[in-house]
Amino acid sequence: MNFDDFNISDNIKKAIKEMGFEKTTPIQEMAIPAALKGQDIIGQAQTGSGKTVAFVIPILEKVFIPDRSPQAIILCPTRELCIQVAGEIEKVGSNIKKLKVLAVYGGQPIGKQLRVLNKGVHIVVGTPGRVIDHIERGSLDLIGIESVVLDEADEMLDMGFREDIERILRNTPHQRQTLLFSATMPDEIKRIAKMYQKKPKFIKIASTKKTIPKITQYSFKTDEKHKVEDMARLIDAYDVKLSLIFCNTKKRVDYVVRQLKSRGYKADALHGDMTQKVRYKVMNKFRNGNISILVATDVAARGIDVDNISVVINFDVPQNPEYYIHRIGRTARAGNKGYAFTLVSSYDAPYLVNIKKNYKVKITQKSIPTLREVEDIKNKLVLDEVKSIIRNEDLDDYIKVIRKNSSSGEDCVEMAAALLKMVRQN
Ligand code: AMP
Repeated sequence: MNFDDFNISDNIKKAIKEMGFEKTTPIQEMAIPAALKGQDIIGQAQTGSGKTVAFVIPILEKVFIPDRSPQAIILCPTRELCIQVAGEIEKVGSNIKKLKVLAVYGGQPIGKQLRVLNKGVHIVVGTPGRVIDHIERGSLDLIGIESVVLDEADEMLDMGFREDIERILRNTPHQRQTLLFSATMPDEIKRIAKMYQKKPKFIKIASTKKTIPKITQYSFKTDEKHKVEDMARLIDAYDVKLSLIFCNTKKRVDYVVRQLKSRGYKADALHGDMTQKVRYKVMNKFRNGNISILVATDVAARGIDVDNISVVINFDVPQNPEYYIHRIGRTARAGNKGYAFTLVSSYDAPYLVNIKKNYKVKITQKSIPTLREVEDIKNKLVLDEVKSIIRNEDLDDYIKVIRKNSSSGEDCVEMAAALLKMVRQN
């Protein structure tokens, strides 16, 4: 099915296209029409099924922007998931003007959350504990809630949030819509569903039908002479934070580290013959963010236990196809999303064919971004962040400063352009 087949607004269809989604996933196909009709849902589906978009679309369809009080609340077990879900709502809702989404979770200063809540938000994504905290402080009023989502309900129960969840549900209006998602269906979940849902539609997506691989794999045609330059463009264009680069030999590792360092990247090598102490030091630098790129051989990379590597880059294609699977498995840990980029010279090409023959992997061929494209992407990243700040943060004090200092009539677009230039040159 296609997203155009749903009875949803054009601005959402447009955003979905911009996100690059073409076909719906099974959970979306089954849950969206029912949820749009106002039905309650129990979705047995895992991360990777596309469940977030499945509940975000119906919620966004219902949001009434002029009313700046919470209309939907999404409960998630962890801070990471809250941030992820809030981000997904912002993306799907990127064409809805003035939409305000707030993630509230423990560990974040409450003051900022209070200020944003005070100014009014439409959708709250939170961990049950922090949501209760806001209810008790009187900063979160659930009277206008029309939809409640329990995301990863089994995880929340495992974490001991049962009482909090029930309390939140009891604090929301009875006529609300309740959407519950859980990878497993223990009795306790069934009990909650029975108590708090109205004739829910049960949707089960078999876990083997995991439709979306968490690791997005791209290959890039290059040649030996341009490999380093092309890789640098990828690192810039995809705004790579922590990455692990694999080379086939130690000599190549040293070469790549030298090249990257001379270009100003914070890179270091991990060698198989390093002492445990040195290895430990390098890994610590990587974990603390003192270096952002680790260049390693297959042997040296064994036992790297870092969860937030966003991209694995194969500077060389491994000759043993099994290594490819091991290498890319270093990203997309702990439920995170990950990318695997493979640089393919004419020398590497047969090995990539071999990998595709041996494993059912989907590796999409892409072209190396041009310098212009790298620039465009870098600008867009800054502007995306600006938009997110406009949506989510309290800017009153800064607006006053700008008003006070632009009395001579500077053009705001010009000012924004100058700020962008400053940020980009830093
Ligand atoms: P989830 O199961 O909600 O954690 O989603 C897993 C990932 O799949 C997220 O990164 C989504 O952005 C992405 N996704 C959701 N729906 C689709 C779709 N129809 N096609 C491709 N990717 C999708």
